[in-house]
Amino acid sequence: MDGASIRLTGIAVSGGIAFGHTFLYHPELPEIRCDRFETPPEPHIAAYEHSLHAAAEQLSGICRSLQARGRDAAQIFAAQLEILQDEEMDICVRGAIAEERLTAAAAVEQVYEQFAQLLAQTADPLIAARAADIRDIKLRLQRVLLGLESADLSLLPPGTVLVARDLFPSDTALLDPSCIAAIVTELGNQTSHTAILAKGLGIPAVLAVRGAMEAIPPHTVCAVDALSGEVFCRPEEALCVHLRSKQASFQEDALRQQKYRYRQAVTTDGVPIEIGVNIGGQNDDLASCDYCGLFRTEFLFLDRQILPDEQTQFAEYCRVVEQADGKLVTLRTLDIGGDKSVPCLPLPKEDNPFLGCRALRLTLNRRELFRSQLRAALRASAYGPMQILYPMVGSLTDFRRAKALTREVMRELDTEGVPYRRDIPLGIMIEIPSIALLADMAADEVDFASIGTNDLCQYLCAADRLNPAVAEYYETFSPAVLRCLREICRAFDRAGKPVSICGEMAGDTRAVKLLVGLGYRRLSMSSGQHAAVKAAICGFSLEEARVLAEKALACRTQEEVLRLLDEDRSCGSALLV
Ligand code: PEP
Ligand code: MG
Repeated sequence: MDGASIRLTGIAVSGGIAFGHTFLYHPELPEIRCDRFETPPEPHIAAYEHSLHAAAEQLSGICRSLQARGRDAAQIFAAQLEILQDEEMDICVRGAIAEERLTAAAAVEQVYEQFAQLLAQTADPLIAARAADIRDIKLRLQRVLLGLESADLSLLPPGTVLVARDLFPSDTALLDPSCIAAIVTELGNQTSHTAILAKGLGIPAVLAVRGAMEAIPPHTVCAVDALSGEVFCRPEEALCVHLRSKQASFQEDALRQQKYRYRQAVTTDGVPIEIGVNIGGQNDDLASCDYCGLFRTEFLFLDRQILPDEQTQFAEYCRVVEQADGKLVTLRTLDIGGDKSVPCLPLPKEDNPFLGCRALRLTLNRRELFRSQLRAALRASAYGPMQILYPMVGSLTDFRRAKALTREVMRELDTEGVPYRRDIPLGIMIEIPSIALLADMAADEVDFASIGTNDLCQYLCAADRLNPAVAEYYETFSPAVLRCLREICRAFDRAGKPVSICGEMAGDTRAVKLLVGLGYRRLSMSSGQHAAVKAAICGFSLEEARVLAEKALACRTQEEVLRLLDEDRSCGSALLV
């Protein structure tokens, strides 16, 4: 091994320890200048031909890998392979090299960009969407021409430690999780989408590691301790021995917790807590949950170049309802914008995207998009228990607008004689303080609510959930958050309406006893967290949980709350393993 060992720290968001080889994900390219040459063109033509060949090999590899995993996105890359062989573009690139004396990278830039712009202007959305494919192929050819490594996340070898500045849902949609040993990113925190993905898949992850892309060398042996939040490149032997023993005891604990995975979560004095699952991918596991507390429908939009139509959405929602096998499915309408962008719906850039036109605000603005999703959801409701959840509701006006549109769609289905569940419950995410403060009034109007603590905490603390510079201000255990949670729970209990928590806090074993003590009887999280959360619940009584919650509510700072929780855990009552 070359070079000294390197230690970096960040936030541990998904547990475990892993060893592997680093892959640095650099999706962006340096600017391609309009360089010309004066020497004979043959070597430039040869470079272009080599890039065509290499790109074709990469695309075939991606197609094979996605097909093997039954992923629809394989079609996108199969179509790109055809575009790569387009004769007209090929003639133009060769001409730009031979006659205009442009370097191969510059010629590809000029020709592919011209074709992309032409397509983007056409009225047919299907043809216009091909512009994105042309630009994608252009980047692929240029990476080869510039001697840069391919940036395909679908082709990583097993045992990869994936290092990135950030990962977007559209990147991770192509990942083969079985090849990823660990994830390290410069941005993100407990509630970012990379964290949610890692927890769902049980991949150790350390996020918010400052300077990771500069400090970590590519293709280097690396150990990721996602218990302490440390990343070690070229770890020394003594450290590896220590980490292996820590890894072994973590795995033993995890194994002991596994026996709770398929059991009902019941406190020692017999109070059942319903455990929901948060889903948002193709390989979600619904076997260990009592209900699905959050179906993030965004995933359907991630690896597509054009918007999925009503029928595609309907088929996917039916698949989930069928998989749930009689358990209630909480379908959340499209929640994009903010940190979640999707290629098939380009959105204008906003200065403060988290305070901007995201989620319900966006779908209320794009009624046709919202209508097609509501039609698909309502049609799927005929096939199993379902409720509809609107994200980012800031006022009862928002809720009433969404409800009115849903009723309009219902009348439309009635006229067409299409079946759906007429009494389908309509609920809201409580994640904006303005609606949290009106919880009593909201409880009067809505059928149910689910609390998005990830966003609620961001807005209560005025700290961007993705910005590592303000991570210390993002206080999940702030007494203000706890007080807010208690009031929401009381309001819904008084109204006799169901309320649950589906933010990351619900799956945090430190928080579970506190949440039960605050009154929550429904918690929803990634299936990867079910065993540990159920084990924790089976280790305390409701009375103990209430006492803990009272003490926490009397704390004045997050530090005091965390100290209280630590003391409680070290008394041994919080975790039964
Ligand atoms: C939340 O905000 O807590 C939540 C569950 O939604 P998302 O993380 O998708 O914004
Ligand atoms: Mg949210």
